[in-house]
Amino acid sequence: MEKKFDVLIVGTGLAGLFTALNIDQRLSVAIISKTQIKFSNSSLAQGGIACEYNDNVELHSLHVEDTLKAGAYLNDELAVRFLVNNAYQSVKKLISFGVEFDIDADNRFLVTKEGGHSRNRIFHSGGDATGKNVTNTLIAHLYKRPNITFIENTMAVDLIVENNLVGGCTVLENDLEYYPIYAKKTVLATGGIGSVYGSTTNDLNATGDGIGIAYRANAKISHMEFVQFHPTALYSEKHPSRQRFLISEAMRGEGAYLINVENERFMSKYHELKELAPRDIVSQAIYREMYDTWTDHVYLDTRHLDPKYLEKRFPTIFARCKEEGYILGLDLIPVAPCEHFLCGGIETDIYAKTSLLNLYAVGETANTNVHGANRLASNSLLECLVFASTCAEDIEKTIDKDQWIKPINIKEETKYNYNYKPIRKKIGDYMDEHVGIVRNTEGLKLTLSVVEDIVNNLQKYPNLTQNYYETFNLAITSYLITKQALTRKESIGCHLRIK
Ligand SMILES: Cc1cc2nc3c(=O)[nH]c(=O)nc-3n(C[C@H](O)[C@H](O)[C@H](O)COP(=O)(O)OP(=O)(O)OC[C@H]3O[C@@H](n4cnc5c(N)ncnc54)[C@H](O)[C@@H]3O)c2cc1C
Repeated sequence: MEKKFDVLIVGTGLAGLFTALNIDQRLSVAIISKTQIKFSNSSLAQGGIACEYNDNVELHSLHVEDTLKAGAYLNDELAVRFLVNNAYQSVKKLISFGVEFDIDADNRFLVTKEGGHSRNRIFHSGGDATGKNVTNTLIAHLYKRPNITFIENTMAVDLIVENNLVGGCTVLENDLEYYPIYAKKTVLATGGIGSVYGSTTNDLNATGDGIGIAYRANAKISHMEFVQFHPTALYSEKHPSRQRFLISEAMRGEGAYLINVENERFMSKYHELKELAPRDIVSQAIYREMYDTWTDHVYLDTRHLDPKYLEKRFPTIFARCKEEGYILGLDLIPVAPCEHFLCGGIETDIYAKTSLLNLYAVGETANTNVHGANRLASNSLLECLVFASTCAEDIEKTIDKDQWIKPINIKEETKYNYNYKPIRKKIGDYMDEHVGIVRNTEGLKLTLSVVEDIVNNLQKYPNLTQNYYETFNLAITSYLITKQALTRKESIGCHLRIK
């Protein structure tokens, strides 16, 4: 079996969906998902989308400056300007597709503030259900398009490459059928890497597949050391899980404080913006407080805020905390940092073009270099939107020159049942211990040698199963994070070196 499309998009998060929606309807497009279309990190997003909904140059400059400052000025300023200047049109497009952002009684958008933002500029929908509302609306539109074919439960395994020219992917459908999908243009929109670590806010299907796939095809991958740890993931004693429930930064935007187990509000010791300092600073401060007080959590304090307002503004978070036995506005909520977002990734230009011909990368798997050393809150959904549009624009402009590449020989690899869990656990344990919020040379070197061995061993014993390829991708991703973290000797952004 083989399939052929003009464009193949791998991933049904916001980046993949918005790319598909922006592609000219005369082109045939396949969009594949490892699980079901509706599952992605995008659908989990709570806080919202950063956007100055206007043409005001000064306000755009402030958003640019906030982004550069959060990224420790390691960002590409031109890419940041491009992101910010195109936010208005992107959000307008979402509204034209029917996305309903929250408004007040006078029909004005209700915009909130998050860490590192100098103004209220975060658009949200359904209170804290922005990701779900946006992705569901886009999926409904895509179902109506005859040029779009959704293929679920199908994992992209490897790129089909001939002399640096990409012509689609090999895929594994239902962990069973292995076949090529040929495409003139291929877009990797595979999202994050959360499962590399022991705990994460991500969907656990985030196994760094785009990074592994691109690495095996020799695409350029950069800024992998910049892994963002979200400061306030729920610390759940009742339901301990590797996937941790996120308590949105917007809660601090609405006035919540952080206190340590000794009941002290501590953020003023670390930054003038206190709880609304950029994420790297807040996570590092919490890490320090946990260390100093011998605990593994701090508290989010909302007891000075109105529970009724909190329930209306954050319905999802309110309900989840209630399940744990905590009422927002009355109880302290235990929180601790964990892995949240990869700032780097597959290197692209502002048209989402990678170092390989006819291969694009969009969304969290890409490094457009808008985030630099640390992402400004709510800039990632915006990144998905802006660069999905330019990706579709470039595809449309250039596809007429392209042809499908010559069919390849698909060789059936061995397939056997093997338990990769211990390997995955080992990777997570080393990454948590040595390549987390605080890093030192010795720990990085030790981890590098461990994960390099794992990569080499996996390479020696290929196995045509989803479990194998996910584990291989996790190992490659952890190898790249650790290797690039070792090379970056200074502390900057979310990369903190103590030795
Ligand atoms: C809990 C949470 C809250 C967040 N809140 C916000 C927020 O408020 N604002 C903001 O800007 N950002 C937020 N973020 C970050 C943001 O949601 C993500 O960066 C963004 O959604 C990434 O979108 P994406 O399309 O690149 O990837 P994703 O949405 O993760 O989608 C990836 C897709 O690729 C598929 N896939 C992966 N590998 C393969 C493969 N090998 N083959 C086939 N399919 C594959 C997956 O199944 C999935 O469909 C949040 C993240 C989390 C986890």
